[in-house]
Amino acid sequence: MPDLPRQISLREVGPRDGLQNEDPVPTAAKIELIDRLSATGVRRIEAVSFVRAEAIPQMADADEVWQGIDRTAAVRYSALVPNLRGARRALDAGLTEIEAVVSASDTHNRKNVRRSTDESLDDIAVIIDEAHQRGVSCQVIISTAWGCPYEGDVPVPRVVSVAGRAVADGADSISFGDTTGMATPSRVWSLVGEFRSAYPDTALNLHFHNTRGTGLANVLAALELGVADFDASVGGLGGCPYAPGATGNIATEELVHMVEDMGIGTGVDLAAMIDAAADAERIVGRQLPSQVLRAGPRTRTISA
Ligand code: ZN
Repeated sequence: MPDLPRQISLREVGPRDGLQNEDPVPTAAKIELIDRLSATGVRRIEAVSFVRAEAIPQMADADEVWQGIDRTAAVRYSALVPNLRGARRALDAGLTEIEAVVSASDTHNRKNVRRSTDESLDDIAVIIDEAHQRGVSCQVIISTAWGCPYEGDVPVPRVVSVAGRAVADGADSISFGDTTGMATPSRVWSLVGEFRSAYPDTALNLHFHNTRGTGLANVLAALELGVADFDASVGGLGGCPYAPGATGNIATEELVHMVEDMGIGTGVDLAAMIDAAADAERIVGRQLPSQVLRAGPRTRTISA
């Protein structure tokens, strides 16, 4: 066995990233899902995003959801913010961790927020300052880190330089997002390797999608490099906005199922996470892509 991390930190992103890419669901259902997830042993949950309701109706009730959930001390909750206005809403709501997002691809960034990547990085520098003034940590998520639906491959040096600007501006950690599922293990080694040699002291999270079936292979590639911080979404909630019907986020219970069997701790109770995935499926009213949800864990037996 290669030398792998003994445990990983897992961030559950279903309530935000997942539900943002599903048909809108009632506020009460979101609260129920987050509370359910809080009881699975997962230690981090991306709960909401503070965006304009007209832009993303799925997140219009972010304040109500945030006020309505039963926050437990065992879980760190975070919110994604697209701009300074969203960041201020999150800070006013009492979040202690926020994530600012920028796309490595200029075209993708302009389509999302009508600003260039550099202009967004200028805004993010201000967001980081305001967060730090209020004792709040700020992660910077670099989306389209492994490719863009408009531009195709984004060169590794470009992604590393966008991340480097965020590090220089005080980001507490960096996350690389495979927005459209274009990463493969060799591309994970390449980007993570380059980033790590340039910024060895910066905490790194990876956010993989399983759009083309390489999600868990990418996780394994990253584990081999010593990365120990991953996003995943219960049931595989969420789709790919650029490919209707395609799969998005890797499923939390699939990730837990694989790494726990490799002796890597997650803190998550697999059975409880599978139950939460069944709940998530009920909430969105469609079959979710998680294969562990369908098949059960590998230790499941049937009566002979
Ligand atoms: Zn995602």
